[in-house]
Amino acid sequence: MRDIKAMLPEEIAAALAEMGQPKYRAKQIFQWLARGVTSFDEMTNLSKDLRAALSERFSISRLEMLRKQVSAIDGTIKYLWQLSDGNAVETVVMHYKHGNTVCISSQVGCRQGCAFCASTIGGLIRNLEPSEMLDEVLYSERESGSKISNIVLMGIGEPLDNFDNVMRFLELVTCENGLNISMRNISLSTCGIVPGIYKLLDKRLQLTLSISLHAPYDELRSKIMPINRRYSLDELMPACREYAKVTSRRISFEYAMLGGVNDSDECALKLAALLKGMLCHVNLIPVNEVAESPYKPSTPERIERFISILEKKSINVTVRRKLGSDIDASCGQLRLRKIKEQ
Ligand code: SAH
Repeated sequence: MRDIKAMLPEEIAAALAEMGQPKYRAKQIFQWLARGVTSFDEMTNLSKDLRAALSERFSISRLEMLRKQVSAIDGTIKYLWQLSDGNAVETVVMHYKHGNTVCISSQVGCRQGCAFCASTIGGLIRNLEPSEMLDEVLYSERESGSKISNIVLMGIGEPLDNFDNVMRFLELVTCENGLNISMRNISLSTCGIVPGIYKLLDKRLQLTLSISLHAPYDELRSKIMPINRRYSLDELMPACREYAKVTSRRISFEYAMLGGVNDSDECALKLAALLKGMLCHVNLIPVNEVAESPYKPSTPERIERFISILEKKSINVTVRRKLGSDIDASCGQLRLRKIKEQ
């Protein structure tokens, strides 16, 4: 059976035409799916016969909620969803002034092995399907009752390692008859898969590209991010510069502040030199402690000092607000706990 939630309206229309059905029904079906129906029987403006015929040919993906945690501090919600094959992924809903943002996972696990990250412990299990990523948004919106306006691909997984499915998901979620999220309100974060960045550049999308940088020179970056041994800063930075130049979109560099590791004055100066003259922005992340990793957060004084050095060098910098710190809301932690409990 074909996964109908992975299909665009025109593809549903083509399938309907083959069934001898009028094409306009496609829009109705697509709208029902975007409202989160779980069976064709809920599509009450379709005839009974058509509903039966559809359910013979197509499946409708769904998620089961395994766990929901709500932060008492800021209302951030973290969901653990069970996929149809029994695997689980996390989605986080954050309430910002500029709108509700959902942080979605793109893979079950991750193969990138970053030293400080909980998502990669246990490696990559599989890619998420486009419909599963769409369901993360859909189910989070419906369950939380918060209209979602922004999406960040910053949950479990490396989105550029699941390129085609992520591209299809983006098409689906920005579709005007569906969730209709603006591409400008979507951020995609990568650990630095250079060929993937060029492939993304070719698509000329208006999304925001985030790069998980975390270190300003190769020796240190290779130590904490194995991907740097494959694509060093010599390759990554030109790709970023090209991306910013061609798309005129500001790149966001994520930099987790790891106490005593990457937060020295020297690191700040090297970071400023690396980014000099680029259309970009540095987002400092107060690191979330992961029990399995030896890294500790930088002190607030260190973070202040790091910021002041960057600012003196005219680098645009902000500190990410720490949301949901009472609910393990950094990626991969909830799934990891579930695996350990089993
Ligand atoms: N694989 C992609 C998408 C994950 S985004 C990427 O690497 O960008 C998740 C972000 O959180 C990344 O910037 C990641 O490096 C960061 N991160 C992972 N573990 C963290 C931790 N313990 N504390 C703070 N940030 C962390």
